[in-house]
Amino acid sequence: MITRLHDPAYTRWAAQVRATNGCRQPIHLRGRVDHIDRATGELLHRYTTRTEPDGVLRVPCKTRRASRCPTCAETYRADTYQLMRAGLAGGKGVPETVTAHPCLFVTLTAPSFGIVHTKREKNGKTVPCHPRRDAAACPHGRVISCPARHASGDERLGEPLCPDCYDYTGSVLFNALAPQLWRYFTDALRRRVAKAAGLTLRELRAQATIAFAKVAEYQRRGVVHFHAVIRLDGPTGPVSPPPTWASADILADAVRHAASAVTVTTSAAEDEPARVLRWGAQLDVRPITLDGDLTDQAVAGYIAKYATKAAECVGTLDRRISPLDDLAALPLREHARRLIAECFRLGALDELSDLRLVQWAHMLGFRGHFSTRSRGYSTTLGDIRADRTTYARNEEVTTGRLPLFEEDTVLVIAEWQYAGKGHSLGDALLTAALTGIALPTSPMDGGGDAR
Ligand SMILES: [Zn+2]
Ligand SMILES: [Zn+2]
Ligand SMILES: [Zn+2]
Repeated sequence: MITRLHDPAYTRWAAQVRATNGCRQPIHLRGRVDHIDRATGELLHRYTTRTEPDGVLRVPCKTRRASRCPTCAETYRADTYQLMRAGLAGGKGVPETVTAHPCLFVTLTAPSFGIVHTKREKNGKTVPCHPRRDAAACPHGRVISCPARHASGDERLGEPLCPDCYDYTGSVLFNALAPQLWRYFTDALRRRVAKAAGLTLRELRAQATIAFAKVAEYQRRGVVHFHAVIRLDGPTGPVSPPPTWASADILADAVRHAASAVTVTTSAAEDEPARVLRWGAQLDVRPITLDGDLTDQAVAGYIAKYATKAAECVGTLDRRISPLDDLAALPLREHARRLIAECFRLGALDELSDLRLVQWAHMLGFRGHFSTRSRGYSTTLGDIRADRTTYARNEEVTTGRLPLFEEDTVLVIAEWQYAGKGHSLGDALLTAALTGIALPTSPMDGGGDAR
């Protein structure tokens, strides 16, 4: 800290850190940008990191994970909110007429893999978890009953009443195949909507498209479920009106049908028989309206919030785990430890190798994207980021850091190299002081390789 503060380049270092918005693990880049006159070949301007503090430029890590970098995750959350909102209420190139298109908020869950501790509510009151007066003992001698009224922060939530009865195999395989189940679901949904309208799939494409935006969320028991916005548009997406037969009811019926109809079958391996996986019976389908129970703002906020989370709440780690790691020594919840061990066990079977369960053990088998949108849902994260870059660039031009050139007469040649990541402990403390961003609470989260 003292070295940094006494460095003559401190002011520029502080400016870099402020420009990253206090990113906890900034990427260090080494390189230069040349502005060259297209006609004469004359070098008009050169920016090089050679004169920057430590010879590098620090840029934000842009992670979506709040556990890794709170400020970049907040940017991601805000961007996700903007584009979810645009798909529901218009804006960012989507016309406001999109509000009249049939649109649903759907939650697809996983089936049960065993009885777990749950916070149950009835009329706003917490009721006992799993009370069974004459409960029989399971084959492992545990009485499958729990009279506790669990509070929200209870450590036991999501943990099985008997871990030895719990179907860890099913849970891990479901996570691994959930993205495929989702794809089958969207195909089945299109077929069902076509059938309801008395059309072939090809005829449907000429009249309507179905747009999706979905986010994965981990339940406490360690399985993913999906929240999705599903919207029915005209043939060219949100800019075209849906056909006259289209309604929220037709769409909702098709969702219910498709969710109950699709299955994925796993490969049989050694003593693991093939399994047929499907969505759980709990299916929530609600129309999104501008002023009703479920507004566009609420849905956009909900999806954006989940987009910055991973599996932390289940008690796993926010990084890869190797089969060579001593699982017993890692700070894991017992339920997560068992799920991870099951990923390693199944991942070692040849027939299941394409599920890459060893690499994705820390995610409890799920290797899909957390937040995805179909083409035509609304604008893209890339466009929103480009808007911000242009804004930042205009700022640099007006504040004199970049000379103003006619774009088409100047050739811009950039050359960048990755030169590391993160802050030293002293830099992290200074960054926190400069930007008011909290420091990581443990050395396990955050930090970097620049210490
Ligand atoms: Zn960051
Ligand atoms: Zn319980
Ligand atoms: Zn048991």
